[in-house]
Amino acid sequence: SLPLGGCSQTMMEESALQVDGLNFAYGTKMALNEVSFKIDKGDCTLLLGPNGAGKSTLFSLITRLYDAPTGMIRLNGFDVRKQTSRALSSLGVVFQQTTLDLDLSVLQNLRYHAALHGMGRKLTSQRIQEELERQGMFERQNEKVRKLNGGHRRRVEIARALLHKPAVLLLDEPTVGLDVPSRQAIVQHVHNLCSESGLAVLWATHLIDEVDGSDQIIVLHKGNVKATGSVGEVVHSAGVKTIDDAFQVLTQGQ
Ligand code: ADP
Repeated sequence: SLPLGGCSQTMMEESALQVDGLNFAYGTKMALNEVSFKIDKGDCTLLLGPNGAGKSTLFSLITRLYDAPTGMIRLNGFDVRKQTSRALSSLGVVFQQTTLDLDLSVLQNLRYHAALHGMGRKLTSQRIQEELERQGMFERQNEKVRKLNGGHRRRVEIARALLHKPAVLLLDEPTVGLDVPSRQAIVQHVHNLCSESGLAVLWATHLIDEVDGSDQIIVLHKGNVKATGSVGEVVHSAGVKTIDDAFQVLTQGQ
């Protein structure tokens, strides 16, 4: 917790991810409306919203797939429009659709990514070993990705997204299509990453059962931020007793 009153070093630190006054429309269709929030180091933040809420659009703006003409996005303090390469080197992403090359081995996929980030050979080998071991996937490094099941492919994608030690990890519906044990393993693993390494995570989902009591929550509905805060704060602000009920109440109507 922060000391009151004083201007400590902690208070001066940049948020890992800061989004301010973001708007985006597809033609005349508004997809994001004055979206603002911030995520601090070590926060595991769930971006909760039903289909069509604007989650993927937000991710496309943070990753610079789309340009956000209004509003501001800062990664580790760097503006994604004005300081794009420094901002994006602070970011790891796991997209909804797999972007692994199925005909390459796990190791080849990871090495390719490290090369794109300009990482040297020695550092690359060390980081690949660390991240694969953390996921229990090191023994499978020489297998072709095609041979892995969906849960294991996801683990490889998370390992890859973390190779260059980003400050922020974006996960877009990372458990879609996985069986229950694989889903639980990924949820657990990502929570461990936040608490152990101080990584800031933004995890988009429409699945309320992926919420952990310690998570920060952003509820997005029809392009509007309906609530932000801890699980307890969001439940309280919705005037209900559970996060399921809060989600129902906050995502009804306009
Ligand atoms: P989510 O990821 O939460 O399901 P999206 O960001 O995909 O939401 O969509 C937000 C809104 O923008 C929806 O109303 C959707 O229909 C619309 N939308 C998304 N992509 C496009 C597109 N390429 N062209 C037009 N409308 C789009």
